[in-house]
Amino acid sequence: KLYNQVQDLKGSIRVYCRVRPFLPGQTSVLTTVDHIEDSTISIATPSKYGKEGRKSFTFNKVFGPSASQEAVFADTQPLIRSVLDGYNVCIFAYGQTGSGKTFTMMGPNELTEESLGVNYRALSDLFHLSSERKETFSYKISVQMLEIYNEQVRDLLATNGQTSRYPFLRLCLFIMLVCMIILFFFTFLDLWNTLDIRNSSQDGINVPDATLVPVSTTSDVISLMNLGQKNRAVSATAMNDRSSRSHSCLTVHVQGRDLTSGATLRGSMHLVDLAGSERVDKSEVTGDRLKEAQHINKSLSALGDVIASLSQKNNHIPYRNSKLTQLLQDSLGGQAKTLMFIHISPEVDTLGETLSTLKFAERVA
Ligand code: ADP
Ligand code: MG
Repeated sequence: KLYNQVQDLKGSIRVYCRVRPFLPGQTSVLTTVDHIEDSTISIATPSKYGKEGRKSFTFNKVFGPSASQEAVFADTQPLIRSVLDGYNVCIFAYGQTGSGKTFTMMGPNELTEESLGVNYRALSDLFHLSSERKETFSYKISVQMLEIYNEQVRDLLATNGQTSRYPFLRLCLFIMLVCMIILFFFTFLDLWNTLDIRNSSQDGINVPDATLVPVSTTSDVISLMNLGQKNRAVSATAMNDRSSRSHSCLTVHVQGRDLTSGATLRGSMHLVDLAGSERVDKSEVTGDRLKEAQHINKSLSALGDVIASLSQKNNHIPYRNSKLTQLLQDSLGGQAKTLMFIHISPEVDTLGETLSTLKFAERVA
């Protein structure tokens, strides 16, 4: 309740900044982070990067290198609760590759109870809260997991690593195509592997062909996230570490029914691990890497534009400029609640990227 009132006063976009600690072995590396207070971070800028001095940025909250996953989640929790009241929520992880986006959303590679990230904690909270309300409300919770790569939407929960779109038609066509030239076949396979984003008056923005899995326990969620990560990794073998160059989006759909009045409500939550925000030097990359970089720039700046025009209360919100903003349209603006975690790496040699991340966040905050 209190949180909602605060939200109404301050607008519905919150920005949290998280600083990654040094990694094991990085003992004598210099840091750019000069000072962290409750909501302000100040960065030391040596003369090499323009005027020497300190630059301060203020956000809703700044988490220092020693902040635990639990502490980071504690400030996210009120948002999760509002999903069960029928709000749409969107939580992003933004930052350059290696700054800790996946750590915040998923956790480290070797998960322990303390190191579990926002995704798991959010779902676990939803189950917990919905069972607390089970006398008065019945909830159905299900999840989807998508990846946006080069402006194409892919299903990360399809069991065969591909999409479940038109399974019967695909089988028929497959049998026909076996007779055709193999090269021809492969050329088109990639096209079928992508999904459409639809906008219907009944369901709002949705991806009807993506696998939708009902979940009721946290172990369901863990195994789905593992499947999603595995599918993301499968496609990564072709072009190394694709995960830093695609956006992955875990979407939770909640349907609730009031057991006394019969009234229904819907809430949703997108948990988005964005592609690395680092600028790629155009003179150094060509071909696929250049195309990837252009798509990432396009979608991250489209996201920045959408959030900035929401916070300026513009009439026209440019959702249609990228697949990412199209997919998240229902959860950005209006009654929806948005939380952006921006991530920065502590090392001095990442200062340029750190400042550009902070400036991106300053624009949307
Ligand atoms: P990104 O997804 O932004 O590319 P990762 O989440 O993969 O970055 O983080 C890079 C590395 O730093 C990983 O080894 C991760 O475990 C580690 N790391 C990131 N954030 C933290 C943190 N807050 N505490 C400890 N280790 C972290
Ligand atoms: Mg990552």
